[in-house]
Amino acid sequence: MKQFVLIALFNFVLFVECKNVPIVINTWNFSSATAKAWEVIQISERTAIDAVVEGCAVCERERCDGTVGYGGSPDEKADVALDALLIDGKTMSIGAVGSMRNIKNAIGVARRVLENTQHTLLVGEGATDFAIMMGFKNESLTTEKTQDLWKQWKSNRCQPNFWTNVEPDPTRFCGPYEPTEANSVYSSLYSNEFNSKNHDTIGMIAIDSNGDIAAGTSTNGARYKIPGRVGDSPIPGSGAYAENGIGAAAATGDGDVMMRFLPSFVAVEGLRHGYSPKKAAQSAFQRIQKFHPKFFGGIIVVNQEGEYAAACNGMESFPFSIGTKDGGVRIESVPCLSPTSNI
Ligand code: ASP
Repeated sequence: MKQFVLIALFNFVLFVECKNVPIVINTWNFSSATAKAWEVIQISERTAIDAVVEGCAVCERERCDGTVGYGGSPDEKADVALDALLIDGKTMSIGAVGSMRNIKNAIGVARRVLENTQHTLLVGEGATDFAIMMGFKNESLTTEKTQDLWKQWKSNRCQPNFWTNVEPDPTRFCGPYEPTEANSVYSSLYSNEFNSKNHDTIGMIAIDSNGDIAAGTSTNGARYKIPGRVGDSPIPGSGAYAENGIGAAAATGDGDVMMRFLPSFVAVEGLRHGYSPKKAAQSAFQRIQKFHPKFFGGIIVVNQEGEYAAACNGMESFPFSIGTKDGGVRIESVPCLSPTSNI
């Protein structure tokens, strides 16, 4: 079925054909999630929100790359905590959870925050209590793999970690730590080693047959994070952003750096000002690159017409998975920005 947008112009009413909807697209090569979202979005009474929630839930169950869902990235206490976000671009309603323990279906809980509360983001124990009240099962998220990863880290003198300007020297010793004077030598020695093997997020965008847009994310965050850390993924405008009539974006990568620049919001603002998805994606990442030339990250951007693009930094290329009427479900990839890249 062809999609049309109604445009009123100088008293004339025009029907303009939308090129490429419905569409689903998500970060990385997580194509079983794409396949589920694509299946959902083709059913006429199902929505973009349904597609994003059910698509991301596949990754939570399959534990895509070990970095989404339970059993992945242990924190410093060997525990697993999840972040997730859901944005309804039709109503600009948002639900999110951060650093949530003991509940597997984080994107499902984000949907409950969106639909059953007037809040936007619930974190920590409060998020877990809320999820239990909403009927989600209270269960451990740790597995043997989580325990093994944590034991290796502990026997490797707690390397890598996310501490700076503390003593004992966090590049050589485990905590507990105490603060030292700011700008001590430790901060310049430190590197948290973000890369595609230890941190990924599913970020998904869907546009349904009505032209309604939704976006969402789900992740178990950064491996060996300090307990209580919330990454970029549940932060609206950082992990994802979506607005009907404009488009959407979703990001993955070094969330502690990326959330300072709200790349998904910046990309959608680019679309609003007439940028192509490619230029919107690249310009959002160039803002970060200016301060952090080597940051690790990828972003996908889709406009209202279903035109899409991606950009990345700190790796060679960035794969993403996509479902469209013409091409079905497939994986594509983009080469990353060079340090001096200009749009
Ligand atoms: N952005 C996620 C975080 O920092 C991790 C990732 O997507 O690689 O929690």
